[in-house]
Amino acid sequence: CGIVGYIGPRDASEVLLHGLGRLEYRGYDSAGVAIDDGQHLQLRRSVGKLANLAAQLREYPVNGRCGIGHTRWATHGGVTEENAHPHRDASGEIVVIQNGIVENYLELKERLIAHGHQFVSQTDTEVIARLLGEYYDETGSLEQAMRRTLAELRGGNAVVAMTRREPGRIVAARLGHAGGIVVGLGDDEMFVASDVPAILDYTRRVVFLDDREIAVLDAGGATISRLDGTPVTRD
Ligand code: GLU
Repeated sequence: CGIVGYIGPRDASEVLLHGLGRLEYRGYDSAGVAIDDGQHLQLRRSVGKLANLAAQLREYPVNGRCGIGHTRWATHGGVTEENAHPHRDASGEIVVIQNGIVENYLELKERLIAHGHQFVSQTDTEVIARLLGEYYDETGSLEQAMRRTLAELRGGNAVVAMTRREPGRIVAARLGHAGGIVVGLGDDEMFVASDVPAILDYTRRVVFLDDREIAVLDAGGATISRLDGTPVTRD
């Protein structure tokens, strides 16, 4: 439902919580963040109000400069901590959040289970995480893994992922018209969100992704292209 991502010098958990708070008006039933603490991708997730996630982060703080956060409005799978985003791939080294619905998720899930995957949630989003993992093994690149994964999805989705294997990088993509993605450019820091209010307190320089576009963000900038590989230039 709500998406925020951050790379830069600030405390990621603070930026993510603040941004998610700005998206509370959209409604949600659970929330979570994944932050790279330099050694692991740390997940904090909780059901209910953002205040619950904030309390968990106070009790178990994560110190990191790169992270992604999500407020979930459940469509597939009940409102539980396991179903809250972010979701991990089989290796645990890739995390992903999604807005929207993966319409063909059952078919994908059955195929993945036949490949030996053991799902830990009931959501449609976990199929994205596991596909990213499989394609990462083949391509060694989160961006390429994202392109291949999205080629398999049917539905309207905004998808944002990061991996411990590519520190300081976030990959975001938009498929269809159900979920928006806005990239926010700062000075040596980058933001991504589902809606502008999430990042407006940090930057006014924003770029919107169109349908079937993908953005690769590092602290120094963002590169946008079409999912088929065609480069895109934006002001
Ligand atoms: N379909 C996803 C889920 O139920 C994402 C819902 C949303 O947009 O928050 O987990």
